[in-house]
Parts: sequence; structure tokens; C-alpha cells
Amino acid sequence: MHELGIIQNIFKVVEETAAANNLSKVSKVYLKVGKLRQVVPEFLQFAFATVTKDTIAEGAELVIEIVPVMLQCKACGNKFAEKSDLPLECVACGSTDLKIIAGKEIVLDSIEGDKKNL
Ligand SMILES: [Zn+2]
Repeated sequence: MHELGIIQNIFKVVEETAAANNLSKVSKVYLKVGKLRQVVPEFLQFAFATVTKDTIAEGAELVIEIVPVMLQCKACGNKFAEKSDLPLECVACGSTDLKIIAGKEIVLDSIEGDKKNL
């Protein structure tokens, strides 16, 4: 289950961000997940609940946004969203020499929580 490893990495960033912002409690965690990662959101939720147990993010809501796949044509530089019909080719020049520029990432977008009372 690679979702657990993903969440462990994300949680490190959550903890650092919470500490940097003086949060005593994390209530929401916004995650951006590229479509190509093919993660199962339910597994991510389960892993998140497991990893955050007994931490400042225990019980926090995990909000997952799936990032669509974006491609760039190496021939003409055109950028476009993935089409569902194959073969994949540049919509501008028809080249099939494409690179993926979005859709593989897993990043922490932002967190919400309560500030410490100083
Ligand atoms: Zn092109």
C-alpha cells in the first residue's frame, strides 16, 4: 500500500507547516494529487487517519483534489490537457513527441487549523 508512504511524507510537511504557523491543532489538510499517480482516495483517507493518530492533526479532514494531466509538445511547445482518445498527439501540430508537465505530482496545497494562544 504505497498510500501510507505518501501520507507519511505529506504529514512531515504538515507538521513543519503547523509548527511554522504556531498551530496547536490542524483541522483541514488540502492535498493535490496528479491523476497519473492512480492513488485510491479511500486508501489515502485511511492512511491519513492512521498516520495522524495521536498527533496535532488527529481527526483533521483530508481534502483531495485530483490534478488533471497536462502535456507539452516537444516539437512546437504547445501545452494542452490530456484527451481521452488515443493515440495522444499534439492538438496544434500532430506530433506524438510529448512530455507530461502535470498529473504526476503529490503536493500539500495548504492546511487549516487553530493558532496557539500565546
Ligand atoms: Zn505540437
